[in-house]
Amino acid sequence: MKNNKSLNQVALRYRALFLDIDRTSIDMKSESTAPVIAFVARLKENGFFVSEELLHALNNVATDTLVEITSLINEVMGVDLNWAPLVKGWQVPTGESRADHLVTLLANILGEEYGFRGTTLPCGHLIPEGTFPLKRYNGCPFCGTPFKTANFVYKGQGNKLKELRLFTMEDMKKVFESLLMSDTPLDATQRESLAQLLQVFPLPENPEIGMKETVMLVIHQLVEQDQAEEARKLLKTPTDVLRYLWYEKTGHVQIIEPKTLIDRYIKNEDIAYLDDFLRNIVDANLRKREKEKLKLKYDRKTCLRVAKWLNAIPMTAQQAAENMNPKRGMWVRMIRALRLGEYSRKKGFERLAKLLDVFYKKNYSSWQGRVDQALEANDADKTLALLKERPGLFARSLFATMLRFGSDKVLAAFSDIADKLPSRLLLSLGNAAEFYFGIDLNSIAPPIRVVRPFAGATKEIEPNKLLKLYSEDERKAMAKAVNELYQSSMKRRFAATPTDAKTIYVEPALYQIPISVGDRSATIQDTSCALMGTRFPVEGDAVRLFLQWGKGLPAQHLDMDLSCRISLPPNAVAECAYYNLTCVGAKHSGDIRRIPDQVGTAEYIELSLPELDAAGAKYVIFTCNAYTNGALSPNLVVGWMSSAYPMTVSDENGVAYDPSTVQHMVRISEGDLSKGLVFGVLDVSKREIIWLEMPFTAQTLRGASTTAVEALLRKLENKLKVGQLLDMKAEAQGLQRVDKAEDADEAYTYEWALNPAEVTKLLYSSGI
Ligand SMILES: [Zn+2]
Repeated sequence: MKNNKSLNQVALRYRALFLDIDRTSIDMKSESTAPVIAFVARLKENGFFVSEELLHALNNVATDTLVEITSLINEVMGVDLNWAPLVKGWQVPTGESRADHLVTLLANILGEEYGFRGTTLPCGHLIPEGTFPLKRYNGCPFCGTPFKTANFVYKGQGNKLKELRLFTMEDMKKVFESLLMSDTPLDATQRESLAQLLQVFPLPENPEIGMKETVMLVIHQLVEQDQAEEARKLLKTPTDVLRYLWYEKTGHVQIIEPKTLIDRYIKNEDIAYLDDFLRNIVDANLRKREKEKLKLKYDRKTCLRVAKWLNAIPMTAQQAAENMNPKRGMWVRMIRALRLGEYSRKKGFERLAKLLDVFYKKNYSSWQGRVDQALEANDADKTLALLKERPGLFARSLFATMLRFGSDKVLAAFSDIADKLPSRLLLSLGNAAEFYFGIDLNSIAPPIRVVRPFAGATKEIEPNKLLKLYSEDERKAMAKAVNELYQSSMKRRFAATPTDAKTIYVEPALYQIPISVGDRSATIQDTSCALMGTRFPVEGDAVRLFLQWGKGLPAQHLDMDLSCRISLPPNAVAECAYYNLTCVGAKHSGDIRRIPDQVGTAEYIELSLPELDAAGAKYVIFTCNAYTNGALSPNLVVGWMSSAYPMTVSDENGVAYDPSTVQHMVRISEGDLSKGLVFGVLDVSKREIIWLEMPFTAQTLRGASTTAVEALLRKLENKLKVGQLLDMKAEAQGLQRVDKAEDADEAYTYEWALNPAEVTKLLYSSGI
């Protein structure tokens, strides 16, 4: 069953297996059958064990189902892929040197006539005698082409198995609804889950879809299923329609203008090394190509569909035209491409005709226009009165208005409407304020100057000119005042919400998880989602990083790199990467630059904690990069293994992967515009790995400077945590804390926090 497979893919992300059974039919005293015992053993090899309930439930399903789930887990854990790196037994360094590379380069330029003798490899490279110890390699040490692949992985060396629970159809439906209604933006994993579940479950009668971004996914699905009429109900404004059209065109749920998209693409193509003359030519050509891609072309069917949608928008022509005003330029091109003028002359499209008429004649007064007028007249009272009419837009321009008219006056006006805004938005304001008011501008490196002030919309902010008028203390006070808005609003909301509960339990891990406001990860976590900020303990003496890429792709040049950066006292940094395979505390398995056919290829780095300790290392930053031009390749998984027991490396072919020791693993989703990724930080003395995700654009890991990572860690630490929010709730509602989840009227666990709708409910506790 195709459905069962996708349901299980989703369930795994919630640390569960999906079985299509009735919960009440489970015999909790049943003896496990032989196939179930075998199935559980296969799970254990992959690092999982089953809960009591799931164990008994497994007796109720067909053996075919067990076989299907086993192969799904093998697929997710990548056990059928090639995990052989370039070097066999790579824990013992090959001792290859720059001289080896140089001599080989000369030999290949000059050839055997000049007396070079050695071995010619299948890639055509001559490896001179006395250079690389060829016996140690699975491929060409000179060009990084692998010749040998492996078809096995190690199993069962892990000591920390992950528990899987039972999910029935009812549970899956709950997950579906929770994703649909989530009022915080879905991260990449949740988006993929929702798309899969939309194939299985019908849309509820009157769906309350929390986020605009989620609406896009749903409309896409409905249009695919030829239910454009259904989709119409979800489109409330012309902007919704534009957002959908642009989503289909670019894959982005935000309406990013073409120019910004092209700039971002150009940034990913490394042409900075070219001289001015060449760079201008290449730049112009790339721009032309990208512009071509963004050209609007629609078939008749699409044109008619959109014409019908716009004709049915539940707004007056004036309101609709005003709604279109901020993206006027894009609309003009859309209207032409969709031949809306033509449709508006047909019978039944009178509303569309009216809308276009008002839009073209600019026969509407825009609210923004009135605000601009008031601003020009320097009329604070009028401006604030207008802003209060539109709380969402007030929030958007809050900081600039504070700089313009002084923070006391503006915040007083804003407080009047603050409770009308989703608390998520107030929270993101607080997070954005420090950045906007330039509090720690200097300590933040360029890649993280990209902020997402409002739900998902990534923006690079130009510092406001008025900032110069204020002293640092004044600016700090402004940021603090904005931060307090959220807290006081939440306290009011909690206090106003009656509850029957007397006691509360908060799992300690929740004090490390920042409340998500849309800056959640862009990678996909196929096995059990972890929230950013989660800390993984390291029990053994080794941490092994891995990178596997190229699955399902034909043999080609595709250079991805795994690397790490070790911060040493006082200000030194050691790097372990393709250009430096060994350094203090770290060993790399060799640089692969081409992939073999279909099965992918792997790189590893082994970190030795005793060696790092001895060297006084503080942090190790885990990174992966695309060296081939373009963004990171899809089908790339990256993560780390850790076990209390030693983990084997094959002398035969270097394979060092064992799914049971994988502590965390993520897949890079398609459409990710970033070029490199920091995917974890090891705090050496605490023996903890912090899961975080930070894109960076530099070609090598030098882009992930210690300062930048420390700034990010600090940012993570400064954010309001889920646990702190629950403390505010406990205080406002007079709840008593207890130490065990079982003893509490209200229990908040890590599993609870994985469910976006539940966390949202807390954020919206008073129903706004
Ligand atoms: Zn070669």
